Amino acid sequence: MKFITALKTALGVAPGCEKVNEFLAEFVEGALDEKMHAQFEEHMNMCKCCDHYLDQYRQTIDMTKEVDEVAIPTELAEHTLAFLRKSNAFSQDQGSATS
Ligand SMILES: [Zn+2]
Repeated sequence: MKFITALKTALGVAPGCEKVNEFLAEFVEGALDEKMHAQFEEHMNMCKCCDHYLDQYRQTIDMTKEVDEVAIPTELAEHTLAFLRKSNAFSQDQGSATS
């Protein structure tokens, strides 16, 4: 939904949610440069949606580390991904009415 992006831009969120999602793995791994990392942290502080997403992402990473001898069932991985998408993307559900 464009208006959500516009709203967040109006609120002064530096990198957009899409950017955050795109570079989330790098952010968690600390692979971003200092400036970008700071911008992402700023975004997380201001954007509950991405903050929650990051939280879920980290939990998922922790989970995979704890059970690295056991493969995660595809079903669970898909369920987690679906949950993450749902909790993060407002647009998908709302946009389906017209199709
Ligand atoms: Zn965000």
